[in-house]
This record gives sequence, structure tokens and C-alpha cells, in this order.
Amino acid sequence: MHDVIIIGAGPAGLSTAFWCDELGLDTLVLEQSEEIGGQLHRVYNPINNYLGLKARNGEELLARFTADVDSADFDLWTQTSISSVDLKAKRVSLASGENLQSIALVIATGVRPRELGVPGEKEFAGKGMIESATRDRELFAGQDVCVVGGGDAAAENALLLAEVCPTVTLVHRGKKLRARPEFREKLQSQHCITVFTESVLTRIIGGERVEAVEIQRKQGLKPFQLAVRGVLIRIGVEPNTELFREQLESENGYVVVNSQQETNVPMVFAVGDVSSPVAPTISGATGAGATAAKVIASRLNRK
Ligand SMILES: Cc1cc2nc3c(=O)[nH]c(=O)nc-3n(C[C@H](O)[C@H](O)[C@H](O)COP(=O)(O)OP(=O)(O)OC[C@H]3O[C@@H](n4cnc5c(N)ncnc54)[C@H](O)[C@@H]3O)c2cc1C
Repeated sequence: MHDVIIIGAGPAGLSTAFWCDELGLDTLVLEQSEEIGGQLHRVYNPINNYLGLKARNGEELLARFTADVDSADFDLWTQTSISSVDLKAKRVSLASGENLQSIALVIATGVRPRELGVPGEKEFAGKGMIESATRDRELFAGQDVCVVGGGDAAAENALLLAEVCPTVTLVHRGKKLRARPEFREKLQSQHCITVFTESVLTRIIGGERVEAVEIQRKQGLKPFQLAVRGVLIRIGVEPNTELFREQLESENGYVVVNSQQETNVPMVFAVGDVSSPVAPTISGATGAGATAAKVIASRLNRK
């Protein structure tokens, strides 16, 4: 029996564990991946908005977090696959057959990039699918590429690729791009960028690597193929809540919490992006972790 089980070891889960340890709670963190850090592994841009310290990228910030985590005294199991969770009973069953029990549960499972779900998307991973323009653009210099999405992230990536690629085609299913005005203006002023609105990418085609995409422009029109060597998809994120969505109050998949990070199930808390659809940030995630830990400690009369 643990005082607290935390599911997920991104910034939110790690901060919760760090604070739980400081408050004298017996804490176990379960992480499905090989490594801790969550989305920090995909942050290739400099992080200049975390008060008190700057980092060249997510890995650098994670190294700082890891140093603190290593000095703390809580249990952390990586590569741990959870088969089911009973929120009311605070019982976590692992794929290995082991059952774990705690007094409080903290959901810190974050979000994952939304997939397009078209043929070729998975097959060409690492063979022309671009994960990040910041990281990969030199690899695609001199090649025609396609970006899917209409928000800030898609626009920003298209602009970065346009610095090194002869053509960038931005495909967006809506009538208007949602990206902020500054990005929209920049997109318009770049002659190498073509924007297809009300259009969807229906297939990624190639042999050894990506060679083309199929685009459907407006309903009813015949799809056409466009030769490209790289495809970057930025169509938002979705919360990792499949394990417990049916057992608590959620909105569009995101866990609903009160100002103390508690869900509608007593002693079940949610922290970080999984409960923050409007303002997902590292500061928000670590702050929510601190709040949850302090509330749990006070409920258990520890500090
Ligand atoms: C490209 C990019 C740039 C960004 N730049 C910034 C920035 O400049 N400033 C900023 O403040 N924020 C930035 N962010 C956002 C920031 O990374 C997130 O807000 C933060 O990582 C959220 O932390 P989290 O712990 O809530 O979730 P995550 O980082 O998503 O971590 C969740 C963890 O839970 C694990 N998990 C999920 N499901 C399970 C399960 N069933 N069992 C066990 N473990 C599970 C995951 O493997 C993961 O390790 C950026 C994000 C991206 C992608």
C-alpha cells in the first residue's frame, strides 16, 4: 500500500512526486515509456518561459529535473504497462499481473500528438515523416515538403521549412487558418508557400521513402497527387485518458478538476496537460503537481 500512486512521469508527474517526497508521502510513479520526461523529449526549441531558468531545449530542462528527481526518495518504475485502473478503489493493475494499491491516485498522463489516420502515416515514420522543423529541417533542405494543419504549430513549422525548402504546401481542412495573425501574414508573404484550405491529405505515397501525397481539395473534387519528399503533421493533441475516461468527469477527453486539482472521484487528482486543455505549459504542469501533493498531504494529515 502506497500513500500516492502517480501515473505518468512528465513534468507534472515528476513535480507531484518531488513534492510528495518532500511532504513525507510514500510515493510510486508509474511511467509507460523507457524514459521519464514526457513531451520534453519533443521540445527542440529553446525554453525561455520557465521562470528562473532557460534551457536550449526540452532535453536540457529535463536534465535539470532529473538531477532533482535523482536526489529525491520516491519509487519510479519506467516501462510499466497498466492494464486497468479502478479509480474508486485506488487500485492499479499492471500488464504483468501485479496489483498496486494507494490512498491517493494522481493522473499525470499528458497528451499525445493527434494522428491523421491516413494510409502511409505510420509506414513512413522515419522515412520522410518530419517530426519537427526545428530539428529536421536541414535534412529536408532543397526538397519539396507538405505540412498538415492550420494552427500556430503548423504555421510555425511551415515557415521554418520555407527557409530551406523550395516549396512548402500547407494543407488545412478548415476555411481559414487558425494560426495567429502574425504567422498568417508571414505565410502570405512567402512565395514558396502554397496554402490549400478546405482540403484534406488523404494518403502518403512512396516506396522506400515518401514520394508524394494525395490531396482532396473540397468535397466532390477528384483528389490529386503532389510530389513531396517530406510530410509534417501538426493537427493538435489528444489527452491520454482512455484508461479511466469512463470513471470520472471529463470534457472532450480532458479530466475535469477543481482548484485543488481533485477530480470528481475523492482522492483522485489530475495534473498537467491531461487536465489543462486551454493552457498546457511546463510551469502549469509543475505548479499543478505542487498543489496536488500539498492537498494530499493535508488530507492525510502529514504536513
Ligand atoms: C514541440 C513542443 C514545444 C513546447 N514548448 C513549450 C514551451 O516552450 N514552454 C512550455 O511551458 N511548454 C511547452 N510545451 C508544452 C509542455 O511540454 C507540456 O505542457 C508539458 O510537457 C506537460 O507535462 P505533463 O507532465 O502534463 O505531460 P507530458 O509531458 O505529456 O507527460 C505525460 C507522461 O505520462 C506518460 N503516460 C501517458 N499515459 C500513460 C499510462 N497509461 N501509463 C503510464 N504513463 C503514461 C507519458 O509517457 C509521459 O511520459 C511544448 C510542447 C511541445 C510538444
